[in-house]
Amino acid sequence: MRELNRLGITSVIDAGGGGQNYPENYTVIQRLHQDRQMIVRVAYNLFAQKAGEELDSFRRWTEMTTPRAGDAQLRMNGGGENLTWSAGDFENFLESRPEFAPTMERELEPIVELLVEKRWPFRLHATYDESIHRFLTVFERVNGCRPFATRFIIGHAETISEPNIERIKALGGGIAIQHRMAFQGEHFVEHYGTKAAEATPPVSKMLALGVPVGAGTDATRVASYNPWVC
Ligand SMILES: [Zn+2]
Repeated sequence: MRELNRLGITSVIDAGGGGQNYPENYTVIQRLHQDRQMIVRVAYNLFAQKAGEELDSFRRWTEMTTPRAGDAQLRMNGGGENLTWSAGDFENFLESRPEFAPTMERELEPIVELLVEKRWPFRLHATYDESIHRFLTVFERVNGCRPFATRFIIGHAETISEPNIERIKALGGGIAIQHRMAFQGEHFVEHYGTKAAEATPPVSKMLALGVPVGAGTDATRVASYNPWVC
């Protein structure tokens, strides 16, 4: 936290991560909070950890806690950025774009339904337009039965297309972008060409279409956590 303060950071969103189990792995940060040692405000999302148990985890968590639980120093922020492992999109442009199994929608839909029912904001990690397209089809189906009463975020969205930005907007969602291309641009160009790289991510289109856009570092996944580099 001191290192983040050094860079001028006073608040962060923790979008979760592999191996970060709730609630057991949050005892350290909760202890710091109890002892009034928080010098960075942290809003944390609950990230599904075990494949095959994602829906059960969210069911359990929605009984245990609620969005905004805590206070300004340490707050629960909702679900994500992993909702189900079957919807796990790669962020490494050395790898080819993943094709999800046909069962992805069946696994994602009840989780989105639950989060919408419980009014949990959520974020979903998604690099490619093809993945975002399938996620939005699930979101629209859920929204058709039970209109979204909370915000959601698509995180990353490097190759998102204009129609899918419009679909996010229609559902009341937002997009969180990072500067990963500054570190992986050459690999991206090798896979998809310079033309595609010119609009990756298509920030000006997102802004022109009026979708809320957040920019960050995604630290320390791909880049440095230093926001000034970003
Ligand atoms: Zn991510």
